[in-house]
Amino acid sequence: DSFDAMDIPEELLRGIYAYGFEKPSAIQQRAIKPTMLGRDLIAQAQSGTGKTATFAIGTLAKLDPKLRECQSLILAPTRELAQQIHKVVIALSDYMDLQVHVCVGGTAVRDDIRTLQGGVHIVVGTPGRVYDMINRRALRLDSIRQFFLDEADEMLSRGFKDQIYDIFKFLPESVQVCLFSATMPLDVLEVTQKFMRDPVRILV
Ligand code: AMP
Repeated sequence: DSFDAMDIPEELLRGIYAYGFEKPSAIQQRAIKPTMLGRDLIAQAQSGTGKTATFAIGTLAKLDPKLRECQSLILAPTRELAQQIHKVVIALSDYMDLQVHVCVGGTAVRDDIRTLQGGVHIVVGTPGRVYDMINRRALRLDSIRQFFLDEADEMLSRGFKDQIYDIFKFLPESVQVCLFSATMPLDVLEVTQKFMRDPVRILV
């Protein structure tokens, strides 16, 4: 299997190869296609499997760069992880004309608001700051088509459950939900049951 055979748009394919990837990892072979097709997805995967590039490619392949509205929201449990995801998304989209914003605590709220109001295509963030930006009406969710939860077990065990449930309330009914988690405790299963429709399940 190869990235070439996945119907990935040309500019994104260039970014993938320029980043140094030659062929898809196991999770990428199984999860990128359903993500691009708009399926809800539950992937039980540890870090080290290539999960970050899985959802980065899955979202970059579906984005409309001409529509300067937030179309994809990616949540992670920590600032560091959100920043790491942001870097990967930026690198893979090197040949695309996109605005990707990282939205985490510890940075100036005013800067976040200004950047978001300027128009961004993708937001990567932690639940607290993202929820804050939604509440302030700085982050509009009307155009969101894909919602990614990375390390969902970690997010829930860190007490972000209420914020995640609140964010779901603001998302369009039709949003695609893709959840990645190393383990599947009850609170993660509850999220999948409440918010996902006929998900594809992948264990790597
Ligand atoms: P992750 O599981 O997302 O933390 O990724 C683990 C490591 O694998 C990172 O250093 C990635 O850059 C690398 N990686 C992900 N996908 C590929 C690939 N298709 N080919 C080579 N390295 C990869």
